[in-house]
Amino acid sequence: MAASSKYVLAEVSSLLTTLEELNATFLSGKTLDVEWRKEQLRSLWRMIDENETKISDAVFADLGKPRVQTQVLEMGMVKNDIVHCFQKLDEWLAIEAVEVPPPFENWSPVIVRRPKGLCLVIGTWNYPITLTLLSMIGIIACSNVGILKPSEHAPNTAAILSELIPKYLDPESFRVINGGVDVAQALLKFPYGHILYTGSTNIGKEVMKAAAEHLTPVTLELGGGNSVVVTEKANIELAAKRIAWGKFAIAGQTCFAPNHVIVHESVHDTFVAALQKIVKVGKIVNAIHWKRIMSLLASTKGTTVFGRTGKENELFISPTVVKGISPEDPLVQTEIFGPILPILKYSTDSEAKNLLQTLSPDALGLYIFTEDLTEARDILKWCTAGTACINDAMGQIAPTSMPFGGVGASGIGSYRGKASIDTFSHKQGMVTVPTAPEFENLLAWRYPQMESQETVG
Ligand code: NAD
Repeated sequence: MAASSKYVLAEVSSLLTTLEELNATFLSGKTLDVEWRKEQLRSLWRMIDENETKISDAVFADLGKPRVQTQVLEMGMVKNDIVHCFQKLDEWLAIEAVEVPPPFENWSPVIVRRPKGLCLVIGTWNYPITLTLLSMIGIIACSNVGILKPSEHAPNTAAILSELIPKYLDPESFRVINGGVDVAQALLKFPYGHILYTGSTNIGKEVMKAAAEHLTPVTLELGGGNSVVVTEKANIELAAKRIAWGKFAIAGQTCFAPNHVIVHESVHDTFVAALQKIVKVGKIVNAIHWKRIMSLLASTKGTTVFGRTGKENELFISPTVVKGISPEDPLVQTEIFGPILPILKYSTDSEAKNLLQTLSPDALGLYIFTEDLTEARDILKWCTAGTACINDAMGQIAPTSMPFGGVGASGIGSYRGKASIDTFSHKQGMVTVPTAPEFENLLAWRYPQMESQETVG
């Protein structure tokens, strides 16, 4: 169901009421009960489990994504993270003792996790289940209430979420609000306990500006531009297979997907030959993105190894590998977010280092292929990246509850697992000051105007 303007207007006009209702639920203390939260988590898990076909059909209708990918990388990932959070919730949210020097150790210094209140999640379209529901886990676990605004570019999935969430989660505490940019902007006018935004870097800046108005803390999950380095010590067949998977899964529209590969010259030709195993891909999300990717392809000075065909009526672009790419080529000056893999050659470590630092100074993911782990760790020190993985493309997102987040232009903050607890709760430092008279004497210096000289002296 597309977000018609009538639908959008109706949503916006009732926004204030929705926010007031959610804030009232939060203030009632209902979400603080740990058994209640665990039941919400169970119910979220059941929501996916009982509606797998429906969800998978919606994602397929939106993105043409192979069902196995929706099964593993969307529904499976969220279900596994729910189970892990359910098991660890008591431990993650337990009161932590703080080590302090004398004489304060008998003040019972602790950190207590407090909820942040009403949290807002603005999702994107490429993993429309994962990138909305993963954050709901942390929001529920930390006793918050929440609003979820899915992307209008995955309208079938957005419709399924707004149908299922009120049936499985407490509607007094969690709401789905659908719509496009107007709805996102209207939502951003209000104060929240926390905002988690996933999408492009430019819009991330707009979200942060809007949040600054209320000093609302943000987590921004932004664009990639991720580099892969293949050294002469890599297992080339394996590297080609794994890089092709990372690049061409959902037609290159994964934020953690390799953007370009920097290959040592001695293994360049073998690597290119190994890549010539074409992978079937899904469609591009919409005509705007299809045109953007085709025009990028038209602008490159590189040599096509394979691919480079597109059918606009089917939003299809064949998996494409382009070699002989210079660092100035338009293909490596931007996040491609499509099924094109540009390849650059390097001959010395310092050349590879310069390429990495120039092409992906703030990558979301950095990938190194080599059988020499010391070499890999050395390369990882050359530049910052939100996440990293040795000998796979996107392997770092596989382990359940692994923190997920960028650095610099690729994002601020992280979430999933324990990182979600840090994001969606406030670490309240708390002490209990003794009241015994002998202790009060120690504090006498604080009350000169109230104390006799005798006591103070
Ligand atoms: P998109 O167009 O779906 O936008 C994302 C959300 O932002 C939507 O809900 C949309 O309604 C909202 N939005 C759009 N304009 C807005 C505005 N002016 N103000 C407030 N909200 C607005 O998604 P997209 O931007 O095409 O997403 C692709 C980008 O997202 C890529 O750069 C990709 O790398 C990045 N991404 C990052 C991650 C991550 O985890 N870091 C994950 C997926 C995608």
